[in-house]
Amino acid sequence: MNADYAIIGGGIVGLSLAWGMLKKGKNIIVVDGHDVASPASRGNFGLIWIQGKGINNTQYAQWSQKSVAAWPQFAEELQEHTGINISLEQKGGYDFHFSEKSLEKTLAQYTSLKQKLNGNYPYDVLTHNNLKKEEPLIGPKVIGAILHHQDGQVNPLQLLKALLHDITRMKGILLTKKTVTDISKNDSFRLTCHDGTSINAKKIILAAGLGTAKLAPKLGFKVPIQPQKGQMLITEKLPKMINRPSLIARQVNEGGIQIGFSEENVGFNEQVSQNQIAKIAADAIKTYPTLAKAQIIRTWAALRIVSRDGFPIYQESLSTPGAFIVTCHSGITLAAAHALFLPEWLEGNSHAPNLKAFHEDRFSLPPS
Ligand SMILES: Cc1cc2nc3c(=O)[nH]c(=O)nc-3n(C[C@H](O)[C@H](O)[C@H](O)COP(=O)(O)OP(=O)(O)OC[C@H]3O[C@@H](n4cnc5c(N)ncnc54)[C@H](O)[C@@H]3O)c2cc1C
Repeated sequence: MNADYAIIGGGIVGLSLAWGMLKKGKNIIVVDGHDVASPASRGNFGLIWIQGKGINNTQYAQWSQKSVAAWPQFAEELQEHTGINISLEQKGGYDFHFSEKSLEKTLAQYTSLKQKLNGNYPYDVLTHNNLKKEEPLIGPKVIGAILHHQDGQVNPLQLLKALLHDITRMKGILLTKKTVTDISKNDSFRLTCHDGTSINAKKIILAAGLGTAKLAPKLGFKVPIQPQKGQMLITEKLPKMINRPSLIARQVNEGGIQIGFSEENVGFNEQVSQNQIAKIAADAIKTYPTLAKAQIIRTWAALRIVSRDGFPIYQESLSTPGAFIVTCHSGITLAAAHALFLPEWLEGNSHAPNLKAFHEDRFSLPPS
């Protein structure tokens, strides 16, 4: 099997890249195996999110905003070619506050970031009473919220499905249940899978989520990434009760309320824990008291892929040119940028985005 690009990893990052490269007329093979981790792409919260991102890194805030701005085009193209509605909504999202002190602290950060972004950071502060007009079921303990107008949500499983359909339509090859165990390079790259399958490609992209760390050193990358567990729960389908999403809860297009924001650094442990789920549920009930009556139908945990500073890593190997690494913490938010702008960078085009801020030489690691 020969390809212009072989992409290792068929999660949201690998598929977004495959889609973008196929649109450029490249021959693409995506190889997806099984990771020790439950892939983040199937267990995430589905937010397309700006607020809170890049508070101390303007370039990350701008890159996320570029993606958010490109999302309507990305979603429209996917829907047009596949007929799959990925339920994109970009009508803002909330950061809820339960004390004046926390609201003021966050506002100070947003004010500073807004200045650095030349004003492109549109948000409003809603008092409890104003918030109640937007979200009538909000509880009395919520003192107010920041409504950021660039935030939104999508159905991440439908997004995966649409990408898979469109990649197939564009004659991309997707190999599943094949774990890449070795990579070598002579004139071209050769990937070897656990079952002996081999794939030749002019260029390769490592987009294997947490699996990236195992393969990366062979290509001279350092890749300081680690797992971070997040736990979730979802209720039975309910009539419309939440208008806009937040990190605490969102109502998915089918009606269930998806709840959960937690961050645990517990290695590759992806077990659901009762104490964390209870805490997440309590936060949601504090925000929307009526949720106390809702039936929980499923809980799960999934592992985020987090670099040492939390920002994406986009890097071409210095020792093995033609091998690239693409990994990030917010692959849903960044899917549009990965699909529409990273192909320019991979191809070395003059109008490619400047991604120097996300090269891995920012990590001062001892040589591997
Ligand atoms: C709880 C939680 C909530 C989240 N919420 C959001 C959110 O609201 N918004 C947002 O933007 N992001 C969110 N994220 C992050 C987002 O889900 C991830 O950034 C994204 O899914 C990462 O995609 P990926 O393709 O890099 O990794 P993965 O989804 O892990 O996919 C990697 C793939 O590579 C394969 N693989 C691994 N090793 C190999 C190998 N050697 N050979 C072949 N294949 C291999 C694996 O089998 C897997 O299919 C959340 C994540 C979690 C865990």
